[in-house]
This record gives sequence, C-alpha cells and structure tokens, in this order.
Amino acid sequence: MFKKNYLLAPGPTPVPINVLLAGAKDTIHHRTPEFVSIMESTLEKSKMLFQTKEKVYCLVASGTGAMETAVVNTVAPGDKVIVIDGGKFGERWDDLCKAYGAKIDLIKLEWGDYVRPEQIKDALDRNPDTVAVFATHSETSTGTVNPIKEIAEVVRNYKAILVTDAVSAMLAEPLKMDEWGVDIVATGLQKGVMLPPGLAMIALSPKAWARVKACDSKHYYFGLKYYDKSYPDSPWTPGVNQIYQLQAALDMVEKEGIENVWKRHQILADATRAGVKALGLSLLSKRPGNVTTAVFSPLDTGKLTKLMRDKYGVTMAGGQDHLKGKIFRVAHLGYMGKFDVIVGLSALEMAHTEMGHPLPLGVGVKAAEEIFLKEGI
Ligand SMILES: *Cc1c(COP(=O)(O)O)cnc(C)c1O
Repeated sequence: MFKKNYLLAPGPTPVPINVLLAGAKDTIHHRTPEFVSIMESTLEKSKMLFQTKEKVYCLVASGTGAMETAVVNTVAPGDKVIVIDGGKFGERWDDLCKAYGAKIDLIKLEWGDYVRPEQIKDALDRNPDTVAVFATHSETSTGTVNPIKEIAEVVRNYKAILVTDAVSAMLAEPLKMDEWGVDIVATGLQKGVMLPPGLAMIALSPKAWARVKACDSKHYYFGLKYYDKSYPDSPWTPGVNQIYQLQAALDMVEKEGIENVWKRHQILADATRAGVKALGLSLLSKRPGNVTTAVFSPLDTGKLTKLMRDKYGVTMAGGQDHLKGKIFRVAHLGYMGKFDVIVGLSALEMAHTEMGHPLPLGVGVKAAEEIFLKEGI
C-alpha cells in the first residue's frame, strides 16, 4: 500500500502549502528598497509572536543559532551564570555557556520535572553577581513547560537578565515577553511558526541591551550590534525567500488570532493526554505543556516509532539519552488540528497492538474526540 506521511514530531513540523508556495517567488536582491521594506514590515509583524514592542532580529540559523546569539552577546569568560537543566535543551544552554567560558551554577532537574522559582531565587542569592539566568520555556525532550512568568518575577529583582529558549514554545505556549519581563527570547521558526527549517529569531529587553553593551565578549556572525546597526536590513544576506514564507505564516497567525493559536495548542495537548491516559499509558512530565506529550510505553519505543514511521507513515519522536527506547513523544505543534491528534492516537493503538501489547482499540481516540466535542472545535 502507498504510504501517506504524517509528521507528528516536535520540529520540524508540517508546513502549510500556502507557506511553502509563498517562497516560490523571485529572489530579489536583499539591499534593494523593495526587500528592505518587506523585511521591515515582516519584523514589525513578528513582534506579535514575542508580545513585545522591542525590535525582533531574524537570523539565518536553526534555533540553536538564536541560543548561541544570546550567549555570545551576554557572557564573557569568567562571568557567572545560572543554567536550568531539565533535559536535552537545558543541557544545550550548559554546553553553550561552557563553550564560552562562563562559571556555571547548574540547577539540574530530573527529566520531566520543572524548575521552582524559589530554586532560582536561592541561586541568585548565593551569587548576586550572576549576569544571566538561562531557562528553557518548553523542554522538548520531556514535554515539560517551565513557569517562565513566575521565574521572570524573581529575576527582575536582580542584576541578572532572564534568557529563555522558546524554540519549541513559540506560539504553543502563551508568552508575553514585555508584560512578564523576560529579557531575551530566542526561537527557531521551524516549529510552532510553521516554516521550513532555516530561520531563527531573537528579541531583547532594554535590560538585556544594557547587558550586551557592558559585555566584552568575542563574536562575529551572531554579534547583535551588527544586527541592530543595519536593522531592519540584515548585516549579512537574509533568507530572502524564507522571509516571504514568514509573511505568509504571520498572516495565518494574525487571522487565527494569537490567543486562539495558544488555545488550540492547549486543546490539542489536553486531548492527546486524555487519549494516552485512557489507553493506560503514563506521562513522563510533572508539568506537561502544549508542545509535545512524552509517554512511557512498555515496548521498545525505538521499534515502536520505527514501525509507525515505516509502515504507517506516522513520524513521532522517541526518547533521548537515558529515555531512549523508553518513551515516545507525540507532538501537537504548529500546523496541526484535531485530526492530527486522532491520527497519532490511532497509530499508537494499532502499533502497540501489532507489536504484542494490545491496547483497547478506539479508546484513546474516543477520549480525544470527547474533548474536541466539549470544546466545540
Ligand atoms: C528544537 C529545539 C531547539 C533547537 O533546535 P535546532 O535544531 O537548532 O533548531 C532548542 N531548544 C528547544 C527547546 C527545541 O525544542
């Protein structure tokens, strides 16, 4: 039988056809008034994603490039930082800060756990000369969301800035950069923002800019002073055709309304959790979020995800590091609606059953359908 593909992984995510096609236009020169004006209106509109009045900068990089930008502009060798590490992406902050010579106070969490704001307060009281706190908004390796708003309430009373990795959280979790007082938000656009991989974004508060100006660190490609100097133009060649795609994606977000985009992600996540629980499976996360649902399976999830991908055409992520083979992660992120959740749950019911761990067919799907009917979507 032919195989139709369903991408239910937490990035890259499915790209709407109109976003893909928006890129199929003339590649014009990036220094022309025509393109700079496109850049300007697109960056202006992108402020909506961050809920900020500050400038937003677009990088030709994956999400990690935006994270590296945050680090190289705010951390010089010997500077003290606090890093929250609750999984693979918290570890990435640790790796980046290490690479640039920071003195790191690591708040290590068990995978699936979230950081309590008091832990950050204690760390800041231990080291009031800390320059930055690095947090992960949605820890994609565990499906856990950290309480960024509450963390910002703590950090704002100190000298340190709060830097968040919102690569997967963007548009899936509510985020109000200015209102909450988050200083740096770094994101990639191949997840909730529905673009093909290749662009990243970053925004900074005035407190973060003051830190950037005071910081004597070495960098070049990711030097924010160059981006700010040429804004809205880009210091190096921007992703011209991907900017067209971003315009199309932003139009979709604007049309749906950002509050509704957040709400949709929450309903999809609720339905997914209800579905897997009804099937008798248990969640990894103590504070599960709207990006992806991480679930323990009695089967080898390496084999499980392979069967679903190769035979059913349904791509989900497995576990990383010590959770490899133990969990699967089904995403509800970006260009997804209720029937993507149904496809995922149905594939799980069938694949578990086919692999010798029969799950009650239709029971997960039913639980999700009930939520959708209740929510009226
Ligand atoms: C996907 C992801 C990243 C970075 O991804 P890239 O592969 O560099 O785009 C960083 N943090 C989180 C939380 C992510 O989910």
